Amino acid sequence: MHTLQFLRPVGALILVVPVLLALGACERHEDAGGSVARAAGPTFALAIHGGAGTIRQRDMTPEQEARYRAVLEQALRAGHRILAEGGTSLDAVVAAVTVLEDSPLFNAGKGAVFTHEGTVELDAAIMDGATRNAGAVAGVKHIRNPILLARRVMEASPHVLMIGEGAEAFAREQGFEMVPNEYFYTDRRRAQLEQIRAREDDLGRAVPAGETLSPGADKFGTVGAVALDQAGNLAAATSTGGMANKRFGRVGDVPVIGAGTYADNATCAVSATGHGEYFIRGVVAHDIAAMMAYGGATLETAARTVIMEKLTAMGGTGGVIALDRQGNVAMPFNTEGMYRGHIDAAGNVTIGIYGTD
Ligand code: ASP
Repeated sequence: MHTLQFLRPVGALILVVPVLLALGACERHEDAGGSVARAAGPTFALAIHGGAGTIRQRDMTPEQEARYRAVLEQALRAGHRILAEGGTSLDAVVAAVTVLEDSPLFNAGKGAVFTHEGTVELDAAIMDGATRNAGAVAGVKHIRNPILLARRVMEASPHVLMIGEGAEAFAREQGFEMVPNEYFYTDRRRAQLEQIRAREDDLGRAVPAGETLSPGADKFGTVGAVALDQAGNLAAATSTGGMANKRFGRVGDVPVIGAGTYADNATCAVSATGHGEYFIRGVVAHDIAAMMAYGGATLETAARTVIMEKLTAMGGTGGVIALDRQGNVAMPFNTEGMYRGHIDAAGNVTIGIYGTD
């Protein structure tokens, strides 16, 4: 069902920024012969996403759009500040994702989607490209910023992935503050669940998480960040409430390393958003890195091939943000829109929402 619906705009919906993002920070020197060389300046970059899906300009007021753009820019600047001061890519992706988790606009932290039971269950993951250490949590209900707990799993435990009550017991041991599940609730997401329930009543059957409800239904909204720091290290982080109306402890691609989140200095950092089951089956984030590692593909080719060809052919919808060690950024998606942005070393911000941006 998704495939045919989204094949049409696919060609137009790729945004690739094959630029050396640090160019703005480099100095130009002319030699006696007049040729231009670039002295190496600090190379660092950051890209973020706020989810992919049915995002159309006609469904959005200018005020709503401005609110999204403002938070995306705030997240980019939070990460950029750290990178500009020589901080790590890990700190930068955490700073950016935390801003997005705290905003009720996105499906992560406050404002996350509801489960079928009317609660919120959150997944998050982080990966360090320098060491390929990773940490992830799934199905947590009382952690204000799940990305911080994912990082703690990576840095203070011998494990990669912790779930539910066990993850929260670890959080308590680590001194994390617990928040009531109600902290995450918003009227907008409650209304979304009620709409799905009404549809289930009409149909007399369950509507699986991810099934298209109606045009404009905001199924997605996961957040993520990828960064390159001045030391040349990549990192990726992703955080989500998963899919609206999810049941039975469903876990998506986000905390599955290699599916929704991946980073390796040898290739790239990737954070995904979309229909998680397809990203898990397609091992999407790692597949992009593997095309680069084993096939010598560029970041742009690898990211575009995996999203626009492989994922699309499987019937999966969504997109990724990806960054390599040279600071090249690729942001392909096969949905109508994806909240996304990047910032270069000079602090120039670019934000996109629709396929036409
Ligand atoms: N990928 C997420 C999941 O399936 C959802 C999203 O990106 O919006 O859990």
